[in-house]
Formats: sequence, C-alpha cells, structure tokens
Amino acid sequence: MDEIRLTLDEAHDLAVKALMANGCDQRNADATARNMAGAERDGCKSHGLFRVPGYVKSLKAGKINGHADPKAERLGPCVVRVEADRGMAPLAIEVGRAPLIDAARENGMAALAIRRAHHYAALWPETEALAEQGLAAMAFVNSPPYMTAAGGKTKFFGTNPMAFAYPRADGGAMVWDQASSMMARGEISIAKRDGHPLPEGAGLDPDGNPTTDPDAILAGAQLPFGGYKGGAIALMVDLMCGPLIGEVTSVEAGDQDNGDGGPATGGELILAFDPARFGGGDAIERGERLFAAMLDQEGVRLPGRRRLEARKRTPSEGITIPLALHKTILDLSGV
Ligand code: NDP
Repeated sequence: MDEIRLTLDEAHDLAVKALMANGCDQRNADATARNMAGAERDGCKSHGLFRVPGYVKSLKAGKINGHADPKAERLGPCVVRVEADRGMAPLAIEVGRAPLIDAARENGMAALAIRRAHHYAALWPETEALAEQGLAAMAFVNSPPYMTAAGGKTKFFGTNPMAFAYPRADGGAMVWDQASSMMARGEISIAKRDGHPLPEGAGLDPDGNPTTDPDAILAGAQLPFGGYKGGAIALMVDLMCGPLIGEVTSVEAGDQDNGDGGPATGGELILAFDPARFGGGDAIERGERLFAAMLDQEGVRLPGRRRLEARKRTPSEGITIPLALHKTILDLSGV
C-alpha cells in the first residue's frame, strides 16, 4: 500500500482543514483534530486520521453540530454533567475536565456524565489526562449495536469500551483501554481495507456462523472478548452510559442513528478518584512498587507501553497514512 509521511503538526492541520471545510468551527475542529493527531502520535491508527471521512459525513448530514458549545454544570458535590450540544466528544471532554478535577479533589471522587456527544475515539486520552493530574480514572462509552450479547447471534451491544488510568511517579500514567468486543471495530474496518483475515472468535456472519472474514463480520456481528465475561462488561457500560445518565442504550443509539457511518449520539461516563483523599499517602509510590514487581516477571509488560513507545518515536519520525486516505482528506478539504 502506498503511504505518505506526515509530521504530527501536518496530521493535525490536515484534520482541522477537512473538518472546517465541512461545517466545523475552529474550536470544535481543533479539539477533534488534537484527538486524532494524538492517536496517530501514539500509533493508534484506528482512531487517527482514518476517522476524518466519518466525521465529515456526519457533519454534512447535520447529525453532528460543528458549532457545538458544550456546557458544564454541577449536579451535586461529586457530579458534573456536560451537555455536549450534539458536538464531537473531544471538546465536551475538554470542557468537563477542569470541573471534574475540582470536584474529585474537593470530595475524593467525582463523576462526569457527558450527554448528546458523538464519540468516535479511544478512551485513553481522557483517562490519561486525569492521571497526569494525580488522579486515578475510569471512562466508559457505549455505541450502536455491533456485537452480540453473550450467547446471541445478532448485534445487540456496541463494542462498549472502558479504560482505567493510574498516576505514575514521573507524572505520567499507566493506562489500559479496551473494547468489550474481541476486536475494536476500527481494526476490523482496517483489516477489510487492507485485505487481512481476522483471528478466530472475532465475529459471526449475517447468518450467525463464525467467520474470519472482516466483510462478513461487519455485516454480521462482532463477539465479546472472553464470552460472557466481555458480555457482562458491555452490559455494565451500556447501563452506566445510558439509563444511569439519561442517555441511550446501544440499541436505542442504533435506532436513532441515520446510518451515515459516522459516530452516533450517546453518553460517556468518566470517574476520577483522588488518592490523597482515600488515605493512601503513598498511593503512587505503592503503585510503582506493584508495577516493578509485575515487570520482574518474564513476559509481562504494562498496558499502554506500545503507545508510549510510539509517542517517543513519532515526534521526530512523523507518521504514515495511506496515500488514498490522504487524497480523500484533501478532497474533503476542497484542496
Ligand atoms: P487492544 O486489545 O489493542 O488493547 C487493549 C489494552 O490492552 C490496551 O491498553 C493495550 O495496551 C493493552 N495490551 C495489549 N497487549 C498487552 C500485553 N501483552 N500486556 C499488557 N497489556 C496489553 O484494544 P481494543 O482493540 O480492545 O480497543 C482499541 C481502542 O478502541 C481502545 O482505545 C478503545 O477505547 C477504542 N474503542 C472505542 C469505541 C468508541 O465507541 N468510541 C468502541 C470500541 C473501542 P497497548 O496500547 O500498550 O498495546
């Protein structure tokens, strides 16, 4: 596949231009482009510039509000809510971050409920940003049905991911971030684009038969990781991001979506915990000891290492994207 190399700034600017040429204001375009360029920086191709055409489709269809003005309000001492105004999630998350941090520091823990947002992204950025402020964090988001409930044969849950971050002594974060499906949907779309088969257990064809063909799985249904265990996590995420915060379940998100392929509207829940307020004066240091003991074992690595290694390389090496994607984005920008 022919590829083009870009600096991280070029990746960011490419995304901003395409979003702004299709109905986004600078503030919304910048926040979303920062998110996609950050994914490229960390080697997460499935949440990088690959997402631009989907965002543009939904901006053009009027599904996403490119001029969204998300507002944060305190619903209680520990509960912050952001009404995202049908905008893309990255700006809503940025607007909610400072009030969430304040509430967590005041009370020991706090929750941020985001409603009416279009989330198309990975969850590590929002949890990592909190851990870099010394907080432990979790995030959950649901999406339209792409995956079976455990034991089912047809789509019922989104690939409903969750992420967890813990602060490190160097000011960084240990983060894991995973879909409740065996594979993230973006990875399946990339396998389809690149003509690769998928591992066994990734999904079912439209008749409910196991298959490794990405096309058949995209038309059929993905499977939860670990059978009923991944299914239980998808169920929890659906409840926490739907009924709990007055938002849609996966099925409802699917029913309301216009099917343009862009991100559906929905909710996100982010939790933050202040170790200083839980009595763990040495919480970060003890986390470090736990990590060190894990890493003493052969074959063990910390989650997030792959991303952090990419993050060291890409500022000098740049990133690559398929030439065809680059051309599509330029076309969408009217260049
Ligand atoms: P992966 O299965 O690739 O990785 C899951 C986690 O496991 C990562 O934190 C990864 O860290 C870690 N990990 C992988 N291998 C190891 C190992 N050998 N030892 C220790 N840790 C390891 O992620 P998914 O495919 O499940 O999800 C991909 C992304 O898609 C996520 O960011 C998720 O938020 C996003 N997503 C978004 C959705 C949305 O609707 N917005 C829906 C579904 C998914 P590392 O990065 O270091 O490999």
